[in-house]
Amino acid sequence: MRTELRTPVRTAAPASGSALRRQNRALVLRSLLREVTASRADLARFTGLARPTISEVVRGLLDEGVIIESDKRHEARPGKPATMLAFDPDAAQILAVDVSDPQRITGALVRTDGTIAHRVIGSGSAEPVTAAAHLADELLALTPRAPLGVGIGAPMDAWTEEDRGLTARIADAVGLAARMPAQVHPDADLAAQAERRFALDADAADFLLVRVGQCTATTVVAEDAARSSAARELAHVRISADPGPDCVCGLSGCVHGWVAAAIGSGPADPVRAVAARHLGIALSVIVTALDLPRVVLSGPVDAGFCAAVGEAMADATRTAHLSSPTVVRPSSVENAVLRGAAARVFATELGIA
Ligand SMILES: [Zn+2]
Repeated sequence: MRTELRTPVRTAAPASGSALRRQNRALVLRSLLREVTASRADLARFTGLARPTISEVVRGLLDEGVIIESDKRHEARPGKPATMLAFDPDAAQILAVDVSDPQRITGALVRTDGTIAHRVIGSGSAEPVTAAAHLADELLALTPRAPLGVGIGAPMDAWTEEDRGLTARIADAVGLAARMPAQVHPDADLAAQAERRFALDADAADFLLVRVGQCTATTVVAEDAARSSAARELAHVRISADPGPDCVCGLSGCVHGWVAAAIGSGPADPVRAVAARHLGIALSVIVTALDLPRVVLSGPVDAGFCAAVGEAMADATRTAHLSSPTVVRPSSVENAVLRGAAARVFATELGIA
């Protein structure tokens, strides 16, 4: 039996003030994120807002502790030196929680630039909701200010009775600890967002991100937004008539069944080669349809497994007339789900999502 997708998305309501005030606040924050540091006069110029409005927004942000007054800048023209403003790197943080693997929940306080201020790994022996709540408490005790928002990355789907509703219960527990609602997003989307923003070759062309672990999901990331696609579950597409490993969905021969067996096996286990071949063939259809030059595997996979997937894909697409051979590689971004969650929540808070 197929369960509904477990990807509830709940957005934090504005803490206070009108929609206009929130919009002005977002304009100012966005300018500061881009410029790193700016004076009030700079902000008025960048945003087009009147000086009194800028003064009011800045006063609010200073009171909240989101921004700080930094050095003064001496202008070429006569007059008082301008006071510069910047994000307070210790205050403008997102509480991010990665529940991709409910037995190994991790959390972090992430700064606006994507660096991690603190990271905590939940107790594997504790029940997942309890582990997540403790982890949130532990992180919140490390910062004097409330986080700007809370983001949670979770697998696309839940197949077992105990997993059903687990993400929602974790989100409630973490939101209760932080006293604000948590946004929940598919871990594949967040890993893709982190890959695009933080990978060494982040400026490179479009790619297909494949998130493996509790589920096997794909996200297409493209410069042309119309070619992009939010996370889709690839997991239980039946790829082979081989009986194959039993899958959590109750079938056998599906993509996730093979991939899960490969992840759980040793490096010399023959199931890895078979799983890599099946995954490569499954992905080759997507890659060919969209002419994608790059596939990034995110999750517990090594370079050898990626190479085997790449070989299967090259074999399957030999006559497919792709613009360039598709490169398959593991993700190079550490803590991708946590950093992607923070980037997503931060974008929402700034009104640029
Ligand atoms: Zn399955």
